[in-house]
Amino acid sequence: MRRAGVPRIVLLPGDGIGPEVMAAATEVLAAVGTFDLAEHPIGADAIRAYGVPLADRTLAACAEADAVLLGAVGAGAVGAGAVGAGAGAAGSAGAGAPHDAPRPEQGVLDLRSGLGVYANLRPVRTMPGITHLSALRTDRAADVDLVVVRELTGGIYYGPRGDVRDMPGEGVPRPAGDGPARRAVFDTCVYSADEIERVARTAFELARERARPGRPPRVTSVDKANVLTTSRLWREVVQEVADRDFGDVVLDHLLVDTAAMLLVTDPGRFDVILTENMFGDILSDETAAIIGSLGCLASASLTGLGAGGGLFEPVHGSAPDIAGKGVANPVGMILSVALMLRFGLRMAEVANAVEAAVQNALAAGTRTPDLGGDATTTQMTNAIVKSL
Ligand code: ATP
Ligand code: MG
Repeated sequence: MRRAGVPRIVLLPGDGIGPEVMAAATEVLAAVGTFDLAEHPIGADAIRAYGVPLADRTLAACAEADAVLLGAVGAGAVGAGAVGAGAGAAGSAGAGAPHDAPRPEQGVLDLRSGLGVYANLRPVRTMPGITHLSALRTDRAADVDLVVVRELTGGIYYGPRGDVRDMPGEGVPRPAGDGPARRAVFDTCVYSADEIERVARTAFELARERARPGRPPRVTSVDKANVLTTSRLWREVVQEVADRDFGDVVLDHLLVDTAAMLLVTDPGRFDVILTENMFGDILSDETAAIIGSLGCLASASLTGLGAGGGLFEPVHGSAPDIAGKGVANPVGMILSVALMLRFGLRMAEVANAVEAAVQNALAAGTRTPDLGGDATTTQMTNAIVKSL
């Protein structure tokens, strides 16, 4: 039974530190309003419960909810091939692992495509007092305020893959025999103009929202157009959309290798970074290192900027090395709650309050071990809730 006017949120705590940071999220939600919360398993947790990493009933519940909050997926891997990829990636079957063993990460991929959340937003902002952990010169890291907009439901994570001997098409070199030396596999990157256009629009609209007096809207599109066909179409379509509808947005194009370098040497030059699925996965982990810890980053996966709903999750994975110790940094998860309030539930003022509370708690010196402090997950969460 749904309560009228009360947002329904599906909680997917998942694996490893997922349930620990999800507990922090529910504390914050309890402090800011009334929500109808429904919990379901995903990832290794769901494989144990249902035999699959994302059950049909779970996807159906997510599709009907006003927003979905995800912890992390990956730890407690089932089968030898499960390589952790957390919120970020598909992972892959390890060498020699059966390709058909259920992988926890497949649950997240199926959830993203099942919900159609093609635009993944990852805001990266300098946190009060923690730039000293950055490997960068503090004066460069001090003014980082950017958003990575990553295409999330296309590209190489979703294209056909398998053994080269089963690869469709003429003229593909196919190794003969069965020995290990003959092993050859493939992944395919596919993008349509429509897929590129819709995520480009999201990035341009976001740049407009972020513009301030003296800071015009700015988008940096990242590709590998000197090598990849998909990247050439990417660059072409992004430029067309800009020329047609976003003449006020300053657009530049960078090759992904150059972007990777500039993120380290001059992160302050970026505002909105628009890129495809795998490049976005890699670059956003790089941005995490710039501001200090993966544990602080949040993400929103949307079907467009004004669409409402969506999937909200911290950028970190299941962190099996610290799971169960009560020391996971809950900030990435709590900032994901703020993104959910802002983009998913259109409660911008409450979202601002949660973000301010995080800033205040960090500025007052409460820090988990990944930020150089000794606060537990519970202490960090309490400090944030108290300053709400
Ligand atoms: P997965 O396979 O789920 O991605 P992983 O081993 O790759 O797991 P991540 O979660 O990606 O681990 O984390 C990478 C590193 O960052 C780990 O050392 C982890 O302990 C640390 N880390 C990640 N999230 C947090 C967090 N919320 N608080 C503290 N440390 C974190
Ligand atoms: Mg990881």
